[in-house]
Amino acid sequence: MTDTALRIAQELIRRPSITPEDGGCQDYLESLLHPLGFRRTRVDAGGVTNSVFFRPGERDGTLAYAGHTDVVPPGPRDAWPHPPFSATIEDGVLHGRGAQDMKGGIACWIAAMMDLVRAHQPLPSLQLLITSDEEGESVDGTIRLVEHLQRHDLLPDAAIVGEPSSHKRVGDTIRRGRRGVVQARIGFLGQQGHSAYPQDADNAIHHAAEALARIVAIDWGAPLPGFPPTTCQITNIHGGTGASNVIPGTCEALLDIRYNPANDFAHIRETLARAIEPARVELHVDHVANAFVTADGPFLDLVCAAIRRSTGLEAKRDTGGGTSDGRFLASAGVPVAELGLTNGTIHQVGECVAVEELRVLTGIYRDIIMHFERHS
Ligand SMILES: [Zn+2]
Repeated sequence: MTDTALRIAQELIRRPSITPEDGGCQDYLESLLHPLGFRRTRVDAGGVTNSVFFRPGERDGTLAYAGHTDVVPPGPRDAWPHPPFSATIEDGVLHGRGAQDMKGGIACWIAAMMDLVRAHQPLPSLQLLITSDEEGESVDGTIRLVEHLQRHDLLPDAAIVGEPSSHKRVGDTIRRGRRGVVQARIGFLGQQGHSAYPQDADNAIHHAAEALARIVAIDWGAPLPGFPPTTCQITNIHGGTGASNVIPGTCEALLDIRYNPANDFAHIRETLARAIEPARVELHVDHVANAFVTADGPFLDLVCAAIRRSTGLEAKRDTGGGTSDGRFLASAGVPVAELGLTNGTIHQVGECVAVEELRVLTGIYRDIIMHFERHS
């Protein structure tokens, strides 16, 4: 199985697919999955390649695996120890963009399925939900796949998202939720004038300073346990004409809020609006990503049991980090667990993964598919 996972990971890495390009990765996956009894449905949107691969099962229930074939740009190629799309193996380590995030993970899932199908194991129905738009805008990716599944009443009973969730060892951490993201742009309005005649002007930076101090001091309340608290960061301030004797008539600030599911978008928007009064402002608030959480229950227990059997590790059920495509499935009511390789080099120059990790993850995935049951 390890050789299979390694070979598939190399084939994927050698197809450069800088977001939102797919680079032929999903056609390659089709060539592997078709002989296993999978049918592919393309759900392309806005120039993004999306595929649902489906194999009807011999057992009850449908288990999905969600992943992306796109990768972030390699950065300066000279700084890589091996060319970023060469998939070179050296001293038991596979080098290349996507090795951890997340071509390596996809390769492990396919190797696990191949092994089970060839062993004629009775399997649940299996879905692969693959997009080439995760690392970029994420507007025509997994959400389009989930809409397709909803339209055709094909939502799975549970989903593994193959993002590299692990910290030091494969399986030490799974993610079962993420905070949501709200971003705001505030334009403070005043009246431009000469700094020697402040009575004839109205300083927009002064209004901004007072309002932003109130925003930073907002108490977002008690967080939902198991999640990091809500945080609000001022990420940009822009004001002034460049001249030191001009009172600015406008000032703009950008906020990035990571919210704990104890808060919600409507509450956050109202709280911000209250904090900036009575300044004259233009406020634009965007709900960039929903918070989500999969409750403790049979699915998370099954994933953790598979990890325990394969590695002896007791997985931490984490909710840290930025947002993930898991939110689209979770918002549709699908229990989601993110489980993948370690993430120590993701998005870095010199991304790589130990070949041994591919072996371990393939074993865990195999166990999850073997033991999956529908719980409703
Ligand atoms: Zn990823």
